[in-house]
Amino acid sequence: MSADAVVVGSGPNGLVAAVLLARAGRKVLLLEAADRFGGGLRSGELTLPGRVHDLGATVMAMALASPAFRELELKGVEFAHPPVAAAHPLDDRPAVLVHRDPRRTAEGLGRDAGAWLATVGATAKGGFPLVELLLKPLGPWRVPPATFLRAARFGAAGLLPATTFARRAFRTVEARALIAGMAAHSMLDLRAPITAGYGLLLASLAHLVGWPLVRGGSQVLADALVAEFRSLGGEAVTGHRVRRLAELDAPTVVLDVTPRQFLELADLPPAYRRRLERFRYGPGVFKVDWALDGPVPWRDPSVAGAGTVHLGGTLEEIVLSEAETAAGRRSPRPYVLLVQPYAADPTRGGHTLWAYCHVPNGSRADMTEAIETQIERYAPGFRDRVLARHTMGPAELEAGNPNLVGGDIGGGLASLTQFVRRPVWSPAPWRTPLPGVFLCSASTPPGASVHGVGGWQAARLALSGAAPSGSTS
Ligand SMILES: Cc1cc2nc3c(=O)[nH]c(=O)nc-3n(C[C@H](O)[C@H](O)[C@H](O)COP(=O)(O)OP(=O)(O)OC[C@H]3O[C@@H](n4cnc5c(N)ncnc54)[C@H](O)[C@@H]3O)c2cc1C
Repeated sequence: MSADAVVVGSGPNGLVAAVLLARAGRKVLLLEAADRFGGGLRSGELTLPGRVHDLGATVMAMALASPAFRELELKGVEFAHPPVAAAHPLDDRPAVLVHRDPRRTAEGLGRDAGAWLATVGATAKGGFPLVELLLKPLGPWRVPPATFLRAARFGAAGLLPATTFARRAFRTVEARALIAGMAAHSMLDLRAPITAGYGLLLASLAHLVGWPLVRGGSQVLADALVAEFRSLGGEAVTGHRVRRLAELDAPTVVLDVTPRQFLELADLPPAYRRRLERFRYGPGVFKVDWALDGPVPWRDPSVAGAGTVHLGGTLEEIVLSEAETAAGRRSPRPYVLLVQPYAADPTRGGHTLWAYCHVPNGSRADMTEAIETQIERYAPGFRDRVLARHTMGPAELEAGNPNLVGGDIGGGLASLTQFVRRPVWSPAPWRTPLPGVFLCSASTPPGASVHGVGGWQAARLALSGAAPSGSTS
């Protein structure tokens, strides 16, 4: 196929870019290195036959809130909501629950009920325009002016370290632990700037759209994008790893890769090369998937209804765990992000469980024991439910997807600096100095997660350029 555009990599960003280019009438070729499309959206039978596990992303709050996915209006993708968005068990008291309804959530926070509504609740009230502004900080926007005021308020609190925000905004152990568990998704030291912003955004998304899973597994979303792409005449190929850009013969190339790979793929102008070489990757993760013979036996039964469970105890404990990782050390009591898909989606072949903890980039440590000990802490007898387990450290993750450099699932450190310089400081960082070549991965704004906004931005820029080859207009 002679193509107007080649998209390299089929993660959510590559897929969104491919669909938008094809919808605009371009002849598009999509090349994927792995044997299945989807990148971070792949699912598979990791443990026992018939058990569906998500290899990467599983919680789809960002996808549901994303302006890019809303614009695509995909068919055949159903989001499955658990009764409770997230739970945060604690040793000596009832678990804290995040419900879709902020008021119901606040009821569980005692003296911090009002503070929760004034902070997280107020951010959620900003609704989709605010999310659009946050996901597309460099525009273009379709947001009402009042949203900018709300965004300024969010920004003032969000720029703070999570530790400072938690101690200023809340007085209870429960609310402080809850926001720490949310902020720790950032994979940053929680004493660093903007970690409060990640916590506020994720918590408010639980109220705005919920924290659902894709019914049947995340692969269903990837497959729907591929089906839409093919229905538009796009050609999609797996098992094709692009090694040099010179292999590709098309006026437009969109790369769903991170800076380190881009440096290997092309001869770049020295100044841009040096800027990419300064790009920093974040910590890695160690992931465990289990097949269980029944639900996790939580000590507090209210945790059973939660899709996501944050294990790590108090604010102070989580801060310590993430600080250890950020300093390049393995945390003995790691903060664990756990998802029980069966709470939302009964179609995955039984009780499966998904969890990971953060580890230093490239770490070879086996964290299975440390993760299971954290689960046992809140669910004594958990190990007796395990039928089979599957583990992936940074090396295995990167072997399955070259974008996961050293096990970094975020496409690069999510620090304040790299929030604005992702991967370079520019009003259009998706554009590269090579004519017709664009970056779209999570290493471009707005960063990690399944939202497809990088792909949306790269496609928009590509389409604002030259007309398709053979076009007479
Ligand atoms: C374990 C894990 C858990 C996660 N949990 C969540 C979650 O719950 N919710 C959420 O929103 N996000 C989550 N994420 C993050 C999310 O998956 C990523 O941010 C998102 O997938 C990034 O999309 P992307 O398109 O930039 O790249 P990716 O999804 O990483 O896809 C890149 C694709 O490009 C391909 N590729 C790379 N180089 C080449 C080449 N040279 N030639 C051909 N193909 C190439 C790769 O094989 C891969 O398929 C998680 C990620 C992981 C790994």
